[in-house]
Amino acid sequence: MSTIFTKIIEGEIPSYKVAENDAFYAFLDINPNAKGHTLVVPKKEENKIFDLDEKSYLNLMQFSYRVAKAIEKTVPCERIGMTVIGLEVPHVHVHLIPLHTMDDATFSKKEKLSTEEFQTIANEIAKNLCLT
Ligand code: 5GP
Repeated sequence: MSTIFTKIIEGEIPSYKVAENDAFYAFLDINPNAKGHTLVVPKKEENKIFDLDEKSYLNLMQFSYRVAKAIEKTVPCERIGMTVIGLEVPHVHVHLIPLHTMDDATFSKKEKLSTEEFQTIANEIAKNLCLT
């Protein structure tokens, strides 16, 4: 059975898309730690990040780097934090989180955003993106 992230990538479940290429898809986390919290996901399903082959892992890091740069240009913050957990969704994903305080990195404090706010921030990050 497909993971929820495969359903998002295939458009079966809606998402606030930030970036996409042939191998990766980036979209806003629906329950963000902070405004601009983004997930970067390989299109090919794999459960655990260190089960990726080395080249796929490095490509994921390169794509995440580019998305992080765009988030940093868009969302005022101290820095972009990067976390990999995967205990909820068994499909590799990198969390890119605009950090203001340590709380933003803890997954205990959540930000409530309206549909309009999600869409606006996704559009702004996408505009600031350079994928080459
Ligand atoms: P993890 O697996 O790293 O513990 O957490 C999974 C993350 O995916 C959580 O931050 C959660 O909010 C996010 N998430 C789970 N389901 C969905 C979904 O359907 N859409 C989006 N955009 N994010 C989701």
